[in-house]
Amino acid sequence: MIKYVPEMTSVVLEEIPDRVSLAVDISNCRGNCVGCHSPFLKKDIGKELTPEVIDTLVADNFGVNCFLFLGEGRDPETLLDLADHVRSLGLEAAVYSGREVVEDIFWNHFDFIKVGPYRPECGPLNNPSTNQRLYRVVDGRPEDITSRFWHRGLEAGL
Ligand code: SF4
Repeated sequence: MIKYVPEMTSVVLEEIPDRVSLAVDISNCRGNCVGCHSPFLKKDIGKELTPEVIDTLVADNFGVNCFLFLGEGRDPETLLDLADHVRSLGLEAAVYSGREVVEDIFWNHFDFIKVGPYRPECGPLNNPSTNQRLYRVVDGRPEDITSRFWHRGLEAGL
């Protein structure tokens, strides 16, 4: 089972370049980031995220073209099934993983994958010294697009 925190669901423009993403915070995080910004997401909280829930969320947020899983939870098989469901709706599927690497099968189910634990000394994606990476998946192969964030960080003085 995959759970999400309904109160934190939002439409975001920055997390995935050139996409209007519906972002859901996934609980039961199995990450262990030293600088964890949301420790409550390590707990078994929230409500079950099902294909029917995704249908409703997408219908309630007309115009989004990407569904972003902020976290993976602890049930990868269900997560991949939900990603497939997102794609069946004509949206792209994205996941922010806190792990260093994801299993190869992930590249076949997502259009965007972010990897790397958050380390305060390295900064987030928009810091050129970040250890995190965002990949766009093209024909099942990862293309590193992390540098798309860096001009934004410089403009913002980050
Ligand atoms: S991925 Fe890292 S920062 Fe995000 S909730 Fe999990 S431990 Fe915390």
